[in-house]
Amino acid sequence: MPINEFDLITRYFSQKFPKRDDVILGIGDDAALCMIPSDMQLAIAIDTLVEGIHFPSMTRPKDIGYKALAVNLSDMAAMGAVPAWMTLVLTCPETNDAWLSQFSAGLKELAEAHQVSLIGGDTTSGPLTITVQITGFVPPNCALKRSGAQPGDGIYVTGTLGDAGLGLAALQKQIVLPLPVLNFVESRLNRPTPRLQEGQALRGIANSAIDISDGLVADLEHILTASGVGASLALDKLPLSNALRDYLSSESAWNFALSSGDDYELCFTVPQNQESALQNALPPNSYTRIGTIEQNHGLRCRDGEGRIFIPQQKGYEHFVKLNVKPRKRRSRSR
Ligand code: ADP
Ligand code: MG
Repeated sequence: MPINEFDLITRYFSQKFPKRDDVILGIGDDAALCMIPSDMQLAIAIDTLVEGIHFPSMTRPKDIGYKALAVNLSDMAAMGAVPAWMTLVLTCPETNDAWLSQFSAGLKELAEAHQVSLIGGDTTSGPLTITVQITGFVPPNCALKRSGAQPGDGIYVTGTLGDAGLGLAALQKQIVLPLPVLNFVESRLNRPTPRLQEGQALRGIANSAIDISDGLVADLEHILTASGVGASLALDKLPLSNALRDYLSSESAWNFALSSGDDYELCFTVPQNQESALQNALPPNSYTRIGTIEQNHGLRCRDGEGRIFIPQQKGYEHFVKLNVKPRKRRSRSR
């Protein structure tokens, strides 16, 4: 049953979300009012998800809500910022109670986990599109930027790469996976984990950072361009989940890890003299060194024997599918 815009906002968005002392006036007026800590810089980011482009049409509304915030929190993580406030622009074709209730529950779940207040937004009708704008805090001169990478820096990533891409390939019926593996890669696609603690812990340690939304190669190249440097990657060092190892050929797994999007892991670079600080800052299994920043421009990917490998494509391009080559040998998922 359709409900009007004001009821919709009251029912699904103005209550329930975390309350913060620094929000003087939240949803309900012409603008929100917030107190800015006097010793902080504001980090501000915005990201839009369009149905059929940024998420498949069959995605559960709860996951859409979760992901809309997760991708923004990931931008805060990549800057080393602490998220505080968000606004939401919701464009949907119809006001459907069940859909809205699930969508706001997913959004709220992640907002609660990180104490982010929903302070305002806009609601319109049209093709399903969700925009979240987020504001966070970072101490002056501490933000992790793309432009600070130096020759000699180690290149690191958090977590594992390519899982979300494999999830999308499975949803698009390019590969058949056993249910537990499918559940894992689908949750990596639909409910990415923003690496906020890691990003904050890397302040003063990493020379540069970015979150991997379009694929490792594409996003690392943003660091290389912004910093005026090049890099070498060791393919046998890429952190791969058992899902990729067990169900893709090694070449296919590399292509997914290098080029598929939506992982929302962090890629960051650390100078040699900060390596022990890095070891103290992050749990040992939470990150992997995959390469080195070099003076020579361009990105060189090498296999275990030192041979150059050219990725099938740079980064995630909408509707362009990566070749899925299943692994030949039968093996069980651990
Ligand atoms: P205005 O006409 O001034 O733009 P609206 O009627 O669009 O105001 O919104 C009324 C209040 O509800 C505002 O405080 C606005 O920030 C908030 N709001 C509207 N849509 C949303 C939404 N999807 N999520 C959160 N807050 C919203
Ligand atoms: Mg409005």
